[in-house]
Amino acid sequence: MTAYTFRGEHHGQVTGAPTRLLMIGRPGAGKGTQASRVSEIFRIAHISTGELLRDAIARNGPVGRRCRGYVTAGRLVPTVLMGNLVRDVLVATDAIDGGFLLDGYPRTLGQLQILDDLLGPRELDAALELDVSSEQIMQRLAARSRQDDIPSALLRRLEEFDDDTRPMISSLEDRGLLVSVDGDRHEDEVTADLLASLASLAEIRSAGDSGAHHLTVT
Ligand code: AMP
Repeated sequence: MTAYTFRGEHHGQVTGAPTRLLMIGRPGAGKGTQASRVSEIFRIAHISTGELLRDAIARNGPVGRRCRGYVTAGRLVPTVLMGNLVRDVLVATDAIDGGFLLDGYPRTLGQLQILDDLLGPRELDAALELDVSSEQIMQRLAARSRQDDIPSALLRRLEEFDDDTRPMISSLEDRGLLVSVDGDRHEDEVTADLLASLASLAEIRSAGDSGAHHLTVT
């Protein structure tokens, strides 16, 4: 059993099998910051597909060269290529057994299906959605200087979120996996809300105990 704290505040204990979490949000929602914090607290691998791709592009190997055009234009990297990358990194980090927080993957129903197939019978524990207003997004993106934050690429990424990612979020919600928090607040408040929401989800599950879920936060 692991007791966990955030900024000195006690949030609970984790028992049982490692956690399998997703982090979802529009560009500029703060996925990276929250994903690092939550993965550290739960001691699971933080896997950011955006970071993986940016590293691959910087190294300029075969994968980087295949992905560069998509990422720069704000388009989704093709599903099969993405699925192979995620499978390789899950294996390399021992995340299937050790637990993971996937940040930026899956982004479509097709990718979710691939992830479900990779995970087998033990499914995801929860999907954490950071809900942010368009005003916040504009403010936050103005403060960073990524190549795919230029207006045309950003617009495409926002459209892609509405067209492809929202249907996937609905499907996760139907499965009872969605934890959605207001991401417009200070990052510490958002982290605290994510932890509290995960704790209530675990409580609801243990109350109605189906035995099918493995995340236990008390
Ligand atoms: P992010 O850092 O998560 O905003 O991702 C940056 C860019 O990497 C995206 O705009 C896509 O071009 C690419 N990318 C990241 N994750 C995925 C994914 N799951 N599927 C396809 N492309 C992705």
